[in-house]
Amino acid sequence: MTTKKKIQKIVIVGGGTSGWMAAAALSNQFKDKAVDIRLIESSKMGAIGVGEATIPTLRRFYSKLGFSDLDVLTATNGTCKLGIEFKGWKGDNSSFIHPFGLFGQAVNNIPFHHYFTKLQQSGDTTPFSEYSLGVNLAKNNKFSLPPTKPKNQLEIFDWALHFDANLFGNLMRDYSKGNGVKVTDSKIVHVDLSLKDDSIETLHLDNGEKVTGDLYIDCSGFSAYLIQKVMDTGFEDWSDYLVCDTAVAVQSELVGDPIARTVSQAQKAGWQWQIPLQSRMGNGIVYSSKFIKEDEAISVMLSNIDGKIIQEPRSFSFTPGRRKKAWNKNCVAVGLSSGFLEPLESTSLAVVETAIEKIANFIANKEYGQEEADKFNYAMGCEYERVRDFIILHYKLNGRKDSPMWQHCRDLDIPDTLAAKMAAFKKDGSLIKSPWDIFGNDSWLAMYDGLGFKPTSYNSSIDKFSNAFLTEQLIKMRNGIKMTVDTNQTHTDFLKQYCGYKG
Ligand SMILES: Cc1cc2nc3c(=O)[nH]c(=O)nc-3n(C[C@H](O)[C@H](O)[C@H](O)COP(=O)(O)OP(=O)(O)OC[C@H]3O[C@@H](n4cnc5c(N)ncnc54)[C@H](O)[C@@H]3O)c2cc1C
Repeated sequence: MTTKKKIQKIVIVGGGTSGWMAAAALSNQFKDKAVDIRLIESSKMGAIGVGEATIPTLRRFYSKLGFSDLDVLTATNGTCKLGIEFKGWKGDNSSFIHPFGLFGQAVNNIPFHHYFTKLQQSGDTTPFSEYSLGVNLAKNNKFSLPPTKPKNQLEIFDWALHFDANLFGNLMRDYSKGNGVKVTDSKIVHVDLSLKDDSIETLHLDNGEKVTGDLYIDCSGFSAYLIQKVMDTGFEDWSDYLVCDTAVAVQSELVGDPIARTVSQAQKAGWQWQIPLQSRMGNGIVYSSKFIKEDEAISVMLSNIDGKIIQEPRSFSFTPGRRKKAWNKNCVAVGLSSGFLEPLESTSLAVVETAIEKIANFIANKEYGQEEADKFNYAMGCEYERVRDFIILHYKLNGRKDSPMWQHCRDLDIPDTLAAKMAAFKKDGSLIKSPWDIFGNDSWLAMYDGLGFKPTSYNSSIDKFSNAFLTEQLIKMRNGIKMTVDTNQTHTDFLKQYCGYKG
């Protein structure tokens, strides 16, 4: 692909969340610009219909389309997510929250955690979590929208949504159709490749139609129909690093009001999620089939669900990893077709959205070539690897003793990129920020602290401050956070007031 290919027709294959998100964003970008966008989905095959916890980037995605947070919360039975509570990961009865927000306040431009470490090493036992507004709002199930002009760092927190994936898909579908996206409900049964360069030439549908395009966006889910079955692009398998390979999802009735956090409860050979919506609870277990049988995993999961089960459990097998080239010739894979990492940090839709954003930028002039494909593959590769490293960290630092899987995870070799980050932090609390890392420093700090991985030392330039001075600063920070939390409304009141929650 040496010369640029002009784009008049974009064909999106797949009507799951990623297909409809791609259709919505691209139809918005090319409104009135003579680009024909067509989406092919198969209602007989259906979409996966899970994927209900998000990270804050999703809010940026839909706001560019003109949706407000309250629009989306209301339309999707959504609730607010201030972070993820990890229960049992450090050992039985342990619990900590990874918030979407900051910890503490820098003093003299030196990050807070150095002061914290210094005082801890002098005998202070105040938990790190007391310096995060996000954690304390989440713990107390309080929620209001963050201030648009925070007075200081302590007021900064971010949030995401839990939502019904099918309802969110519908929202994206209606928006896309409103922008003129054409939809065909049919299964692609055969694809012609070009004799010249093996790029995609024609899609043959089971209704007899033939479809051609200038760019094909493969959102066909785990089947990776175009990018893998047809184009044989290849997959980078990360199961040597991440042992979980199966998930079972089930919905239950809500017991009590929905909380403003996702829960990840470590179990014998995996972990169980709880994602509260306004209308029900999403539950599931992710486990390693090498360490536990499906029957036992399901029974562990069901015994930890309070509400009545309202749907048969659905099982998914997966291989963690990513497509070697998400953009191959005239085909770009987005969503499950491009790769998958277990939903421990709710990152799949975030990767969908960053992929779509990049595609939109690269084809903004209605053309593309190998240069754009290479840049996209490089960036997506980095992004997947950084998410992979962050997820491995959870397993590497686990403190569980109830099954051989957890010891196995502690013993596993980790990627050099992760080893370098951990070594730098261990030495003196340094945080290495990698390009394309979806998670910022405070996310890493939350996991290090929550799992008991402490630095040996700290930035020595803070030794000029006395412990008494630092203690006073830290008390002020804690008091500020406590006051904000005490005076905040509850998550339930927020949902009732703004999002149609009936209680
Ligand atoms: C157990 C589990 C839990 C998850 N939890 C989260 C989470 O909490 N947060 C998060 O961000 N993500 C999560 N994910 C990931 C999330 O579900 C997906 O990223 C998201 O749903 C997007 O899926 P998709 O659109 O790529 O694929 P799918 O939803 O599978 O859609 C594929 C589409 O392609 C169509 N198709 C396939 N082949 C053909 C063909 N030959 N012809 C025509 N049409 C075809 C199908 O009909 C369907 O419309 C989870 C995934 C799993 C498995």
